Amino acid sequence: MASRKLTCLSCGQVNRVPEERLGAGPKCGTCGAGLISGKAVEIDLATLQKAARNDDLPLVVDFWAPWCGPCRMMAPEFAKAADSLAGQVRMVKLNTEENPQAGALYNIRGIPTMAAFAGGRERKRQSGAMPAAGIVDWVKGAV
Ligand SMILES: [Zn+2]
Repeated sequence: MASRKLTCLSCGQVNRVPEERLGAGPKCGTCGAGLISGKAVEIDLATLQKAARNDDLPLVVDFWAPWCGPCRMMAPEFAKAADSLAGQVRMVKLNTEENPQAGALYNIRGIPTMAAFAGGRERKRQSGAMPAAGIVDWVKGAV
């Protein structure tokens, strides 16, 4: 039976989800959190590294910080995009103020920056705020 690896965005546990269960609200075997939510979830650096490396579902990260005006403007747009892309990709947010090592590790030069990961590597990145429709188009072209 084919299965997909999905890192739990709450506890960091890597789950194997049978393909036919992907659309049925799969939950983490360790903590019970939903694995596919359609919400832009805030995660930490360790979880990001794990998910970017292991996951079989594409992952899109919004690197942001609370002091960044364009980041805050983009937040509701990113959330809307996450909702319309539910089940195709997982959309997450990483606070670069709380995770200061992220900037150097992912070579982030300015925020907001979005990066798309698929198949264990980065496929595409984009700096600057975008409206929801622009984010959706960008994601579809990236993964
Ligand atoms: Zn979990």
